[in-house]
Order: sequence, then C-alpha cells, then structure tokens
Amino acid sequence: MVRFLLPRSASGSDVGRKNLDRYTDGDWRAAAPTVQAAIENRWRVFTECEVCELRILADLKRIQAAKGSGYRLWGQTAKCRRMGCPGRVVFHAQPPGTTTTIVMT
Ligand SMILES: [Zn+2]
Repeated sequence: MVRFLLPRSASGSDVGRKNLDRYTDGDWRAAAPTVQAAIENRWRVFTECEVCELRILADLKRIQAAKGSGYRLWGQTAKCRRMGCPGRVVFHAQPPGTTTTIVMT
C-alpha cells in the first residue's frame, strides 16, 4: 500500500514527490519495517550469499506464515542453501518503481 511506501506523505506533504531512487536507507526501513509491509508494498525480495553470491527469490508469504507478520527482514541472516557453502545470506529488496536494490542489513 502506498501509505507504507511513502511513510511521511500521509499529510499530503511533498514527500510523495520525492524521487524513490533518492530514498535513504532510513526511508526504506520506515517504508517496510516488517515482512507484512514488504508484501503490501509488493517488494521483490531475494537473498544473496556473501560467499558464493547465490541469489534466491524470497517467498515473503512463506516467511510471513512461518515467522509472523511482524517479522523484520532487516538485519537478518541465514545459512546459504547451496550444498557445502559456509556463507550466510542477507536480504536484498527491490521496491516497485525503482531501479534501486536495497541491502537489508
Ligand atoms: Zn553460498
């Protein structure tokens, strides 16, 4: 929902016209603090391994079901799913309407 994507525009201020590609990390954090907000904002989220660079599209609905709607992707890591890889993955997000990829550390 737009109210999450543009967190400070509820009052009709000019924040809604801010170029999404110029959002700061803090803006994005506020736009989708939880997995539920990321789903509602239609964010495309994937994990990427810091060692082997394997990318896997994250199933946000499955994460929501397993962890709850309030689960935060920010700062989370998980073991890489490639056999034998010792790396850990972090979440990356691509909000619709942007060319930005946000590292959710
Ligand atoms: Zn890996």
